[in-house]
Amino acid sequence: MKKMLKLVNCIKQVPGVSELPWDPRTGRLKRNLAAGMINPACRHALEAALELKNRHGAEITVITMGPDIAEEVLREALAMGADRAVLISDPKIAGSDTLVTSQVLARAIKKACPDFDLVLCGCHTSDSETAQVGPQMVEELRIPGVSHVDQLELKDRLLRLQRLSDNFVETIEMELPGLVTVTTQHYTPRYVPLAGLQDAFGETEITRLTLDDLELDESLTGAKGSPTRILKVFSPVTEKENTVLKGSARKIVQQLFNQFDDKIGGAIGKDIKNYQ
Ligand SMILES: Cc1cc2nc3c(=O)[nH]c(=O)nc-3n(C[C@H](O)[C@H](O)[C@H](O)COP(=O)(O)OP(=O)(O)OC[C@H]3O[C@@H](n4cnc5c(N)ncnc54)[C@H](O)[C@@H]3O)c2cc1C
Repeated sequence: MKKMLKLVNCIKQVPGVSELPWDPRTGRLKRNLAAGMINPACRHALEAALELKNRHGAEITVITMGPDIAEEVLREALAMGADRAVLISDPKIAGSDTLVTSQVLARAIKKACPDFDLVLCGCHTSDSETAQVGPQMVEELRIPGVSHVDQLELKDRLLRLQRLSDNFVETIEMELPGLVTVTTQHYTPRYVPLAGLQDAFGETEITRLTLDDLELDESLTGAKGSPTRILKVFSPVTEKENTVLKGSARKIVQQLFNQFDDKIGGAIGKDIKNYQ
């Protein structure tokens, strides 16, 4: 008998506003000041999974690591059409950096869905935007992975992926099991049907995992176990300056190159320091 396709979507709850104040002491966002929502790219990745499910039949497990309130995004994902939900919540994990986040998520996937075929992540989040968690999970799970995928198609156990790289469209084949991070380009997330909401907020059980369930050492997680630190957070100040260049056209162009060679070189992708 053909094995049912097992998909895992990692979704993160992010603040539902574009700007939040920082805590100047810790360098972290004051996330409790805004209601949470599913990170936009995670929503697109979930739609990609739901389309695979429609076409091939699949079981979708959604996993999030966050505070208890992150259960909301799992319920919403269930209402959209996911089948199972896992919440990893433990105060000891708070403050984890991207490396620890990836390790915890990978451990939870192995525990909750050991026979997974494909893990889908968003390409980045709207609050921290490092885009590191997907690629780091590839290392943790020791599987192939492709980031920034626009579109995916499955044939037998082979995924055909399309991604934009600079101005080129790449088509890549990847064998399962694997991991992809999905962009917001191709998939349009579906609206949550009212009937789905009733089931998702009513009957469906959410599996809860703590550090103990994952057999992870407390000293290796949370802020203590995180090898990266936020040293400084500030909003960059944009300064404008008007410069009037005078003289012949040749002199003006020369002055322009002398003054802005780094910026012009950066824009055209060439070192023009010694360009005549
Ligand atoms: C020192 C330090 C302390 C931090 N403390 C906190 C904190 O207290 N609270 C906090 O929210 N963040 C904290 N962060 C950021 C935290 O590490 C990131 O939120 C988290 O690791 C994901 O990074 P990102 O948001 O840049 O994800 P990206 O790498 O941009 O996310 C890509 C994709 O990975 C998946 N993903 C990412 N995070 C999760 C998650 N939690 N659950 C499920 N899937 C996920 C999603 O599919 C997402 O679309 C901290 C970061 C550092 C460096």
